[in-house]
Amino acid sequence: MRTAEVKRRFLAHFEAAGHRVAAGAPLPADDPTLLFVNAGMVPFKPYLLGQRTPPGPRMTSVQKCVRTLDIDEVGKTTRHGTFFQMNGNFSFGDYFKEEAIALAWDLVVKPVADGGYGLDADRIWATVYRDDDEAYALWRDRIGLPEARIVRRGKADNFWSMGVPGPCGPCSELFYDRGPAYGRDGGPEVDEDRFLEFWNLVFMQYERGEGSGKEDYPVLGELPSRNIDTGMGLERMAVLLQGVDNLYEIDETRPVLDAAAELTGTAYRTEPDTDVRLRVIADHVRTALMMIGDGVTPANEGRGYVLRRILRRAVRGVRQLGYEDPALPHLLPVARDCMAPSYPELATDFERIASYAYGEEDAFRGTLRQGSALLGRALSGTSGPLPAGTAFRLHDTYGFPIDLTVEIAAERGLDVDVDGFRRLMAEQRRKARQDARAKKTGHADTGLYRSLLDAGGPTDWLAHDTLTAEAT
Ligand code: ATP
Ligand code: MG
Ligand code: MG
Ligand code: MG
Repeated sequence: MRTAEVKRRFLAHFEAAGHRVAAGAPLPADDPTLLFVNAGMVPFKPYLLGQRTPPGPRMTSVQKCVRTLDIDEVGKTTRHGTFFQMNGNFSFGDYFKEEAIALAWDLVVKPVADGGYGLDADRIWATVYRDDDEAYALWRDRIGLPEARIVRRGKADNFWSMGVPGPCGPCSELFYDRGPAYGRDGGPEVDEDRFLEFWNLVFMQYERGEGSGKEDYPVLGELPSRNIDTGMGLERMAVLLQGVDNLYEIDETRPVLDAAAELTGTAYRTEPDTDVRLRVIADHVRTALMMIGDGVTPANEGRGYVLRRILRRAVRGVRQLGYEDPALPHLLPVARDCMAPSYPELATDFERIASYAYGEEDAFRGTLRQGSALLGRALSGTSGPLPAGTAFRLHDTYGFPIDLTVEIAAERGLDVDVDGFRRLMAEQRRKARQDARAKKTGHADTGLYRSLLDAGGPTDWLAHDTLTAEAT
């Protein structure tokens, strides 16, 4: 089943159950705590918080998401993209646990011929919050899931809040057992690649008190109005329904992966490091396409900086696989053709999108050329390890990635003082943070920032930090 069809069926299922279909929001989040929308609920926050009246008590959407904090997982796990799409259904004071569970289950196991996903019910596992006896009983008695496949988990995994006083509640997640070929038996606690998480159902029913983090806060009384917020990973469901190994092999990304293999003269599935690089390229090219499509342009800070890093990583990946000419003109149109059926504006706006992407690749190639000359001089003038200061200057002045410095030095039989480099980077980040804090007084506080962590998982502010830290 094509990814577009997985999406269509989701919306049709919930529309038939009385949900109003909402258009997804653009990737740049209209939210002071976020760089990018990172979960389906983000655009619905004002409704969930009771700040605005929703157009209807039941809504459903497909939301474009970016989670750059997952960047290190990309290509290594089978299930993390920097860009992905989250299908969601929402109830604002309308139905609650029982119907949310039944609606999700029905779609997942309904035969394909009848408009569902037709998953094998015997392979589905559910997790519930430790104390949520109600959800446990619903899975067991209403759905008929055997107790062996209902797992109770603690607050860190199965309790949701926005990180600040406000709504909170238990959640329940659905996992699919892909079988022994994918890893060890024993459920999601044992192997998260074999037991693939594909849907998270959040039951907002309590009031959260002051506190910090994912666990360290009191749960106060019941909310006057209870909400449902769910998120199903569209690509994850596509993985299951297309019978492929990982997220980068579904119909929306595989053609980019294949194009990258062809361009670099490599073969997918022959060598693990090459495979990771090809997957990273496929993921990042698509993410860059979607970001620029939604108006993000390369820059030295904020969203544009995340885009810049993503594009550079893609370009670097291609070079590491041995192709040194401009690569994006070969790859971006392939990503466009994969995504335009769902997002036609990518085709009509492609000239603009491509000019930013190709321009950035050209600039990066220039950077690499200049940096290489400086690096070449430094390397020929030393017999010991390359000093941290040189590596730092290459990075800071030329945007020269540390791993490239290390790689080129290694080709000359030299080490790089990477620890020293990291110390200099950490020092620079500390200073930048101090500056930012000084500037930010009176704006978004860290409580708001936390909300993002709890609400949708990783935050893009953190990811921004991560990207800076890894110095690609
Ligand atoms: P994981 O544990 O696999 O990292 P998560 O628990 O962080 O996922 P949620 O925050 O619960 O994910 O998001 C809801 C759903 O969105 C997940 O069940 C999954 O199907 C999907 N999802 C989350 N992160 C990603 C990602 N990086 N790439 C693709 N799909 C994702
Ligand atoms: Mg999870
Ligand atoms: Mg989850
Ligand atoms: Mg995650």
